[in-house]
Amino acid sequence: MTQPDPGTRLADAPSRFAGLPGDIAVSFEFFPPKGDKGDEQLQRTVERLAPYEPDFVSVTYGAGGSTRAGTITALERIVGSTSVPVAGHLTCVGASKVEVNEVAERYRAMGVTHIVALRGDASPPGTPYSPHAQGYRGAAELVEALARTGHFDISVAAYPEAHPESPSVEDDIANLRRKVDAGANRALTQFFFEPETFLRFRDRAVAAGIDVPIIPGVLPITNFKQTCKFAGICGATIPDWMANAFDGLDDEPAIRNLVAATLAAEFCGKLYEEGVRDFHFYTLNRADLSYAICHLLGLREKAREPVAA
Ligand SMILES: Cc1cc2nc3c(=O)[nH]c(=O)nc-3n(C[C@H](O)[C@H](O)[C@H](O)COP(=O)(O)OP(=O)(O)OC[C@H]3O[C@@H](n4cnc5c(N)ncnc54)[C@H](O)[C@@H]3O)c2cc1C
Repeated sequence: MTQPDPGTRLADAPSRFAGLPGDIAVSFEFFPPKGDKGDEQLQRTVERLAPYEPDFVSVTYGAGGSTRAGTITALERIVGSTSVPVAGHLTCVGASKVEVNEVAERYRAMGVTHIVALRGDASPPGTPYSPHAQGYRGAAELVEALARTGHFDISVAAYPEAHPESPSVEDDIANLRRKVDAGANRALTQFFFEPETFLRFRDRAVAAGIDVPIIPGVLPITNFKQTCKFAGICGATIPDWMANAFDGLDDEPAIRNLVAATLAAEFCGKLYEEGVRDFHFYTLNRADLSYAICHLLGLREKAREPVAA
């Protein structure tokens, strides 16, 4: 399919999604499920999204380092059931360096050589972080240790609105720079809801000499109240217009999903227009919203080519 010049396409297109060639790369984040129902849902979600051939799918590590076993089990299942590249999240919290290194080696033994290296948070939320006496003090130290082994592809976290403990965006970007200098290959961002927030952050990071890909983290909202709670904990701003969009829909899950899909698609469409081609989806172990957004952005399952516009 021949693509018109982007400027012409945007001015004349009936929709910002018209004729997109699917020239995006995606990754999908999951959390370790609980119980048989959760296991089945994650399996279905992975099977639904795998035909998009994501760059990778990742499994989080529980708050306070709590789901080590669950993360390993979920990673094993995904590795055993698909050919999609898999990344394991790994945090420093509540564990010695030796224990953290053991988990990294466990990942490697099962063929998972991409690690999302994080500091983690103390539990319960709001408890000040203090490193384990024999542990890594923060993500940069963990990245350095993983990179030294030469065995791992390493992703790290970035915060378009600054990490809540950071005194300023500049300090936080300096911290990201430390992680990149220590050996990180890419940064995945915290979720945010205004495309400009990411674009400004990316510009500042590039100006600070950060030369690895910075991939926006996209959270398609499935539960607005819960999203507000998460956002409060991790310092992400919920714009007033978004609260308004979900107003009165607490007991209308189907309509809420339609609204969520519309907003998330518009959000990703704007990022796409600004040249973003990589997207990391916080799926919350559900496929539909992420699948729909990728579809609108022109992505098709490997066997199905996009129909010419
Ligand atoms: C994409 C993504 C995935 C995540 N996955 C998980 C997960 O699986 N499990 C989980 O528990 N949490 C996860 N988190 C949350 C993360 O663990 C928390 O946000 C945590 O508070 C910070 O982790 P970090 O790796 O960014 O820490 P760090 O990069 O170590 O930074 C933590 C704070 O310390 C500051 N800092 C660090 N070093 C210095 C220094 N030398 N001088 C001054 N300030 C410094 C930073 O600016 C920042 O404020 C994820 C976050 C993101 C964005």
